[in-house]
Amino acid sequence: MVPMVGDPRFRGDDAIGGSGDDAVGGGGDSVQREWRLAERVWKNSTLGMVFLVESADFFRGQVYNVLVNFQALGCRLNEAELETWASQFMQRGHQVTTDAAEADVVVFNSCAVTAQADRKSRQQIGRLQRGNPNARLIVTGCHASLNPEAVQEYLGVDLVVDNADKDQLVEHTLQLFDDAGRQGASADPVVGEALNSLLLRGRHRGFIKIQDGCRYRCTYCIVTLARGDERSRSEPEIIAEINRLHRQGVQEIALTGVHVGGYGSDIDSSLYRLLNEILEKSEIPRIRLASVEPWDLPDHFFNLFQDSRLMPHMHLPIQSGCDSVLRRMARRCKTAEFARLVERARKAVPLFNVTTDLIVGFPGETEQEWRQTLEFVEQTGFGHMHIFPFSARAGTKAARLPQQIDALTKKDRSREMHDLAARLKQRELRLHLGNRAEVLWEQQLDSDGGQWTGYTPHYHRILADRQDLGAASIREVSIDSISADGTTLVSGDASAQIRLDDIRFHDARN
Ligand code: SF4
Repeated sequence: MVPMVGDPRFRGDDAIGGSGDDAVGGGGDSVQREWRLAERVWKNSTLGMVFLVESADFFRGQVYNVLVNFQALGCRLNEAELETWASQFMQRGHQVTTDAAEADVVVFNSCAVTAQADRKSRQQIGRLQRGNPNARLIVTGCHASLNPEAVQEYLGVDLVVDNADKDQLVEHTLQLFDDAGRQGASADPVVGEALNSLLLRGRHRGFIKIQDGCRYRCTYCIVTLARGDERSRSEPEIIAEINRLHRQGVQEIALTGVHVGGYGSDIDSSLYRLLNEILEKSEIPRIRLASVEPWDLPDHFFNLFQDSRLMPHMHLPIQSGCDSVLRRMARRCKTAEFARLVERARKAVPLFNVTTDLIVGFPGETEQEWRQTLEFVEQTGFGHMHIFPFSARAGTKAARLPQQIDALTKKDRSREMHDLAARLKQRELRLHLGNRAEVLWEQQLDSDGGQWTGYTPHYHRILADRQDLGAASIREVSIDSISADGTTLVSGDASAQIRLDDIRFHDARN
């Protein structure tokens, strides 16, 4: 029975405190945690539900409302998974907090794409444990899947969930509270529908996981080992999630996965077919693609971009601009095929923005091979580049290749590529000056002013100083200049003195 507000047996917060605090209060951390839960139930019961507090036992082991914080490092897929878990917890009547220090549960989705990401994952686990030793710490993701025993031994880790079991993460977590059985009256779809954890977490772009795993074996890649074989979500499930997010006020989604171009290989579908279905069966105004390996795309793929809801930007990792290096990487796409793909994209939509990932200092990379890469990058032109010094990952073929490149050479080549990338970005941004763009506005820089940043359809960051903008609003503006550091488009006379590090940037890989 769920009694209603005004029940004579319930007289508000102090009732809890007043009647039995001391008796219960003295019972140590877990009891503290349960009182905190009780308190929150009173405060936050979204549907005005109240609970009759018989005794602390009521809470022991039978948690009704857990406060969950989510953290991720690494790729968009990790971010998309957080979103799925957040809405699953909320569908069960639990709540999301952006403050790990007040959470009952902290879920950390770790990364292992480079040695640096591995180190950051370890450090983040330590930080989360010290920041809230009372919370249940759940660790999943590639770092945890590749080192389960070690992570289990880390101080404060309560549960390690392998990548292959991520679909069961919510159940496994609630079992820690012995709550798995309590689907709870608050599993009221209204709750899940009304509140959107994405917006609650201050985000305006929904990352939608469409598939997991990869059938390829690029010689440097640890992800394919950590994420396993390709498995696709069904089209109806994906479209339902997109429509739910749109109903909740989200204006833009990005499709993500490990090998997005391989979507449907296991369910007799394809990325082309899925995009067609999404364009037909959803009304969300902006659809993006996160990183897509530059192969497994049909020649007519870019015809899809005739629909202006599909944003004219693709992140196509080239990794090297030299075919002999690409062969040692076991990459499926060589420079000529990549150049044709980019040409098709730019033919389909003027100013189509291609961004990329590039590894510098791959084993055996000679000066001549390096020059070829620089030349190919210059010829192709990219709107933005993620540049990684080669990082030998234990368990990969590339880690065992001869002629590993020394750190100084990697550093020099990385600097050279960053300089080229900055020039190419400026070149790309200048092509947009004098145009107008429909921008999804996301972040206000000065709480009392009107300085906002957002992204154009071509996925270029833009700044404007206007009072009529708002978070998650889509508004067309003119493109008038480029910021002093060459990274951001500027609309109107917004202070062009803005610098990159004034804007919160969320990508652990660089
Ligand atoms: S295609 Fe991508 S995910 Fe697959 S092995 Fe290569 S780099 Fe890794």
